Amino acid sequence: MSKKRLAVTSSVNQPLDRDYFKYKNKSKPKQSKRLTDCCQQDLDHKVVNVNNKQDWQIIEEYIEQKLFEYPSTETIQPVSCDECGRLLEYQSTLNKKAWRM
Ligand SMILES: [Zn+2]
Repeated sequence: MSKKRLAVTSSVNQPLDRDYFKYKNKSKPKQSKRLTDCCQQDLDHKVVNVNNKQDWQIIEEYIEQKLFEYPSTETIQPVSCDECGRLLEYQSTLNKKAWRM
């Protein structure tokens, strides 16, 4: 058995991530992360979507839970992308109880 020299040595001495295996046999796009055009979110990162009925239920339950847990929170607004509906963040407003000692 003859020893074959590995043709590809560029992956030695560096961390291997999911992208490494994903693009092992094809050329890697310029961006290592695939992002949505509309809100620049990582496409590989699964997030809830306000346009999805089931996801919306999860969002509602989350907000209800938080409102219950924190009496000083007056409202919680799920902020989502206008284009694709991905949930970006929760914005909450506080009521007077937040400053009462
Ligand atoms: Zn978007």
